[in-house]
Amino acid sequence: MVVKTRPGAREIVAVYSIEEISMELVVKLSLNHPLTPVVVDCGKRIGVSNALWRQWMLQLTTFLSFQNGTILDGLTLWKRNVDKRFEGVEECMICFSIIHGTNYSLPTIGCKTCKKKFHPACLYKWFSTSGKSTCPLCRNTF
Ligand SMILES: [Zn+2]
Ligand SMILES: [Zn+2]
Repeated sequence: MVVKTRPGAREIVAVYSIEEISMELVVKLSLNHPLTPVVVDCGKRIGVSNALWRQWMLQLTTFLSFQNGTILDGLTLWKRNVDKRFEGVEECMICFSIIHGTNYSLPTIGCKTCKKKFHPACLYKWFSTSGKSTCPLCRNTF
């Protein structure tokens, strides 16, 4: 991934390319950053479906807004998330992310019945809010 910043410009352009896919992300900083959240805009993209793109933009916004680190940290985290997807890691079926937004864990717990994977933290939250210990997807007991 190539990250470009122009001196004085209030935006960061990150270009991610892998195999036949290429995406350009434009992170716009507000004047009173970090008081107001950054805005992520899409630049050019090749080989990424609309649905996937929307999902990744949302994730990047999440990584950038709920992180205490820098924008570069957020971008790095997002890149790792996209990398994992290309390595064939399946996303968590609760938060639709591969790398957890706050504790950076991977979806490691799988349902014995439907075989879908979840983050331990997401599953724990699901169990405590639903009051049951069933799979959020197939409703079988975990
Ligand atoms: Zn999750
Ligand atoms: Zn299941």
